[in-house]
Amino acid sequence: MPDRIYNFSPGPATLPYPVLEEAALDIVNYHDKGIGLIELSHRSKEFMAIADQAEQGIRELLAVPDNYKVLFLQGGASSQFFMIPMNLLTGGKKATYLNTGTWSKKAIKEAKLFGEIEVAYSSEEQSFNRVPLESEYSVDSASEYLYLVSNNTIYGTQFPTFPDKEVMLVADMSSDIFSRPVDVEKFGIIFAGAQKNIGPAGVTLVIIREDLLAAAGEQVPTMLKYQTHADKGSMFNTPPCFPIYCVGRVMHWLKELGGIPAIEKINQDKAGLLYQAIDSSDFYRGHAEEASRSLMNVAFNLPTPELEAQFIAEAAALGLDGLKGHRSIGGCRASIYNAFPKQGVEQLVDFMADFARKHG
Ligand SMILES: *Cc1c(COP(=O)(O)O)cnc(C)c1O
Repeated sequence: MPDRIYNFSPGPATLPYPVLEEAALDIVNYHDKGIGLIELSHRSKEFMAIADQAEQGIRELLAVPDNYKVLFLQGGASSQFFMIPMNLLTGGKKATYLNTGTWSKKAIKEAKLFGEIEVAYSSEEQSFNRVPLESEYSVDSASEYLYLVSNNTIYGTQFPTFPDKEVMLVADMSSDIFSRPVDVEKFGIIFAGAQKNIGPAGVTLVIIREDLLAAAGEQVPTMLKYQTHADKGSMFNTPPCFPIYCVGRVMHWLKELGGIPAIEKINQDKAGLLYQAIDSSDFYRGHAEEASRSLMNVAFNLPTPELEAQFIAEAAALGLDGLKGHRSIGGCRASIYNAFPKQGVEQLVDFMADFARKHG
């Protein structure tokens, strides 16, 4: 392996090195066929097999039931913000949203274009430092779905468990899908942009219950209907071939590692090291309330913005890159998705202790 920096970027994010290596070879000459991976027709039997393997990997790892479709779409996770209400709320139906950060706020704005939207909970006034307990909100029985962002990438909060209300869930899992077990049957739709936890930018994974495909009204454009993509196995038009290939290889890597139970344990260990470093010092202050802490994005502050800037610069010089927090809350953020190596977290924790000793 060449010298690699530790990439704490929130996304696009670090990928498993074996996947990068394999992709680099396949791009030039796919399985010795004399043609590069990204030159293959999406209708070729080679690419059909690639897409099929990616889907099977996803189904196996998440135990996706047979009455759900797995779709590979474009337009980013952000396009799901409108596609979901456009398809499910035709005729101005109602839905409930939990406002736990920038990504839910954006989804709420789009949903209001299509239906009657109730925001049952918001932590905006506490700068989104927590997610709600189930006792803190209720869902109108007329709601078609309850929408939540399972992991709030910017603020470093995560639902520790999923709501158990009498309503179908719809979840944006862009930054924590495949990091822990999920009972897919509780959800009507799960979606995720690939670039955080499952691949490069360019494909959005959508897992949708089959009975929801028919909900869209006539006026929904063909490309924006889930049914269109479900009917054609995500090949209604040219799909994002290379990102789909990468997702398939990441699924393979994850299976070899021991699947979701194994990665969940690793994720708990990695995040545990960082939260312990924060909790054992007066120098670092975590952004999230303890019960809402994310295992994927650890957001924290130092005593002053000047020290934060110095911390980020010195860390980068040591090969600990991408620690700058999102501009909305400043500070630092360590994004430690599935593929982020534990050694990188250990190095960061050591650096944090050194830096606090010098400046605390
Ligand atoms: C990054 C992110 C998005 C936006 O993804 P795009 O693919 O850039 O549209 C949406 N939701 C969450 C939770 C994210 O982390």
